[in-house]
Order: sequence, then structure tokens, then C-alpha cells
Amino acid sequence: MILKIRTSASLESNFLAWHPDRLGKFSVRSVYHLVVSLAETGDCSSSTEVLVNKSWKRIWACNVPQKVRIFAWKAISNSLPTMKNKKKRNLELLSTCCICGAEEEDVAHALCHCQQARNLWSAMYSARAISHDVNSAWSGTDWILNLLEVLPKEEDAMFLMLMWRIWHNRNEITHGKSIAPVAVSQRFIFSYVSSLTTIKQYPQADIIKGKQVAHPDRIRLPSQAPPAVSSPRRWEKPSTRWMKLNVDGSFQASYGKGGIGAVLRDSSGNVIFAACGSMLVCGSAMEADYSRAGRVLQWRFNGRSCLSLWKLIA
Ligand SMILES: [Zn+2]
Repeated sequence: MILKIRTSASLESNFLAWHPDRLGKFSVRSVYHLVVSLAETGDCSSSTEVLVNKSWKRIWACNVPQKVRIFAWKAISNSLPTMKNKKKRNLELLSTCCICGAEEEDVAHALCHCQQARNLWSAMYSARAISHDVNSAWSGTDWILNLLEVLPKEEDAMFLMLMWRIWHNRNEITHGKSIAPVAVSQRFIFSYVSSLTTIKQYPQADIIKGKQVAHPDRIRLPSQAPPAVSSPRRWEKPSTRWMKLNVDGSFQASYGKGGIGAVLRDSSGNVIFAACGSMLVCGSAMEADYSRAGRVLQWRFNGRSCLSLWKLIA
């Protein structure tokens, strides 16, 4: 049979060839098609491989940025540059976690068991954003796959963003930077996931002006009717010898904070006064509205109190 194989007429030298590719060249694309075809034909039938395929589809469909999906896949395939992985490649002498120094830093330790990871994870669990707290069972190379098996699908985005943020914090610490407080990281995750969900659910909504309240509970309400989208209104100049003061406020219910802003323009449309401010205690948009009116009274215009100006246009 070997003698029947025809040799190349061009007398090329032998070279290593990647058989799934027509030209024998290795590429990630060809590996992807190979894995997909194996999955479709059922050739990869071991439980771990089935779990990997299932999890990958779930991660790929998750409403998070591509970089977060890729990060998650690196974590699952043990490709993150943890101390353990770097020691394996002779890039580090020790595999001990350089944050806590208590254990070897593998993926599970970095994203789950290290103290800084535990703190954020527990805060998310306490806020009911994640239905599973840090658990000693989440260890080994398949811990993310095992966790995804028991995690409700609607928590996928929150879980991936949690891991991504923990890894970000870990990198900040290892690069000598100060770590953000747990509350800040928690707020970042809520805000990020909420924005992603809002964009996906209400692609036509006017989110440029930030009119929608970003609240974590919205994530769990996929059947909620989208808000009415109003057509944008052009700003109209006030009459001659009049000035127009536009004020607006917004708030975030989950944190009880808000922001306010105001612009005063004359009848030609020229801005003669502009100001903005934050409210550390705010329960509603209405409260923000009332407060912004009061704040305007305290702002100053050309060194004089704005009170007389306010009375003039009220
Ligand atoms: Zn550690």
C-alpha cells in the first residue's frame, strides 16, 4: 500500500502537515471547524468534552463583550497567566499567590479562593446577583464548568463579569496599583451588566440622555415591555429679552444617588450660565428635579447670587 502512494512530481522536501486543512497549514479557524464537526458527529463523546461544548455555546451566547467571553474561555481552558502557569513555563520561580501568599495561584484560587476574590464574590452573593457563593468545591480545572452547570442561565453575564473584574483587580494589585473598594467593583459590575441588558432589550430606546433608570432588577425582567421612545425635540429659543433655563436630573435607584445639571441661554441661544452637580442622597427622579431647582438658587453667576436671576425667569 505504501508503495502505491504517489510521490510528489515537484520533488518537494517533506514537511509537517495539518491534515484538517486543505493546504496542510495549521490555523485556529481549522481547529474550530474540526471541533464543531466532531461535536456534530458525536465523536467527542466524553462527559468533559460534552460539558465543554455546552459551556462554550453558553459563554458564546452570553450578552457580554467579546473580550470577556475570550477571558472566560481562557479561564476554562487554564490559559490565564496565573503564577502556577507561569512557573510551568519557567517564567516564575514560585507558584505561590503574590497577593495572599497562602496558596498556589491557579485559576480557581485567583478567581475564587484568594481573599480579594472572595470579598467581591461574597458581596455579589449577598446582593443576590449570584446564586452561589464561594465554595471549596469550586476547585480543580473544571470548576467553572461545574459551576455553570448549576448556575441559572440568566446569571451568566453577571458571573462572567464578576470573574473578569476579579482578574482585573488581581492584575491591578500585582502591578503595584491600589485596588478599588469592593463596593466600587460591585457597582461597576451592576452598572456594566445593566447597561448591556438595556442595550440588548431596548435597542431603539433613547439611552443617550440616560433617561432610563439602570437597575439590576431589570436584568431579571426580560418580558418587561420596552419604554416608549419619544422623538427628539429640538431646543427652542426663548422670546426676545427672555432667557431660558433648562434643568435636568437623573438618579440610580440602587444606590440612591443622582446628578443634576442646568444651562441658561439667552434669546439668541448663547449659553450664559451652565452648572452641574451630584446628589449623594436621592430617592427618585422627582426628588432630583426639586433638588436641582434649589441648587440653581445656590449657584453663582458672574460673581452675583443667582437668586435674583432665578426670580426673574421663574
Ligand atoms: Zn491569593
